[in-house]
Amino acid sequence: MSSPNEPENSAQPERLPSPAPRAGRPLWVEILLAQLAVLLLVVLGFGGTVYGLLRQSIYREAEADLFAAAQLIERDLASGQPATQLEISRTYWHRFGPAPRDRAYFVVWQAAGKLLADSGDVPKQVTPAKELPKRGGPRPYATRWQAGDLQVIARGPRDEQILIGRPLGKEQDRLRNLLSTLALIGLAALAIGGLVAWWLARRITQPIEQLTQTAEQISARQLDQRLPSPTSSTELLSLATVFNRMLDRLQGAFQQQTRFTSDASHELRTPVTVILTQAEHSLARPRSSDEYRAALDTCLRAARRMKRLVDDLLLLARADAGRLQPRREVCDLAEVARTTLAWLEPLASEQKIQLMSQLTSTLTAGDAQQLGQVVANLVGNAIQYNRPGGEVQVTTATEDGWALLRVRDKGPGIALADQSRIFERFFRADQARTVPSDSTAAASGQGTGLGLSIVAEIVTAHGGTILVESSLGDGSTFTVRLPLEDEAAEAKLKSS
Ligand code: ADP
Repeated sequence: MSSPNEPENSAQPERLPSPAPRAGRPLWVEILLAQLAVLLLVVLGFGGTVYGLLRQSIYREAEADLFAAAQLIERDLASGQPATQLEISRTYWHRFGPAPRDRAYFVVWQAAGKLLADSGDVPKQVTPAKELPKRGGPRPYATRWQAGDLQVIARGPRDEQILIGRPLGKEQDRLRNLLSTLALIGLAALAIGGLVAWWLARRITQPIEQLTQTAEQISARQLDQRLPSPTSSTELLSLATVFNRMLDRLQGAFQQQTRFTSDASHELRTPVTVILTQAEHSLARPRSSDEYRAALDTCLRAARRMKRLVDDLLLLARADAGRLQPRREVCDLAEVARTTLAWLEPLASEQKIQLMSQLTSTLTAGDAQQLGQVVANLVGNAIQYNRPGGEVQVTTATEDGWALLRVRDKGPGIALADQSRIFERFFRADQARTVPSDSTAAASGQGTGLGLSIVAEIVTAHGGTILVESSLGDGSTFTVRLPLEDEAAEAKLKSS
């Protein structure tokens, strides 16, 4: 069982080469820039966070040290040590740093604001704070920045204000070192990341460039070329596969088109040769009127064959251009078959073939003339490819929601291998393409090899299907299914 493929010859208008689109940046540069931008953001974000956290922790540590030293002064005050003997415990000196710029100082003011004691090296700008940290508050000390120094303010045992401060030179050195280390690490990360991003961008785009170069080399004359299958990514592999499949189809269509043109020329050459030969032969010397009549008769049949061939080719060209749009009129398939069988009857009886029919009314929307051609081609074949005294059975009916036309013959049948090919243009199962030696036979000719492809085109244009079932020696059955004409079918159902 077989059904025709999609029409493969398609007449496309020749296209002018499309203008090259304005080129932007190469894709690999776009990818590289995007990756570098993301990398830069990550490096800046990460470096900023690390720097911020470390800076906070270093300052907290300095605060804690100053507060611990203030607590020792507070303890000395509580123990009644004279104000002149107050000093910053030496334990903290090494923690604050040995350099003079790191040296801590302290001031103690009485609750009334009178200076009680200081370390002697207090910068001039240092003034007492307006408020003291609350006793039992969440934080036992307050901090502030004054004249570039960090100052910790604590409450003494008799509400004295103990202020201890120092410049954070050592910490700032540490932070500066940290910043340059982070900057170095960031630059190194950017450089390595940039290299990786460049490699990645090239890796992604190189196969695309290769595909483009190969695709550019493919022309109508080199349709057998195929794109290499890149293994670097599944997306590119499927792109190449899809492109190669498209080339397969294009190559098939191109070859079919070339074959079609050469087949058509070949088919037309035979009757043209017959007419030329007959005319030259007749004109070579005076002939009897019977001889002229015979020559003209042969020419007439050759011309008719040419006309049929040209008509068929025109119909197929229209189908290829999508212009085989059938009229959508309600037509009864039984009626179409009956009319067509009536004018095929003489041919059948000439060939001693018995035409039998069982025509049940079934309505479809279509072009009665085109559907008549379907019946004529199928029944014509059934008569032509039959055995002497054979029979042809034509049936129309409504079956499984379709309007059905079935043509069955008791001929020699079609080999399985040929069943899928008989709908191809110019295909003849017996491959009898040679010019018959007898010019009369050549003039009238046998089939053109286009009958079934025309049937398939018309059926497809009507939204239907065609199937062939055949076995050698047991005849063939062609079944055409067309969509039922809904409104007409409903009306018919109601009236019955
Ligand atoms: P042709 O003009 O040669 O008949 P068709 O397209 O109608 O062209 O048919 C293609 C080929 O299919 C024929 O050459 C013939 O070999 C085969 N064929 C078509 N119909 C039948 C049939 N009813 N029985 C056997 N062979 C058939």
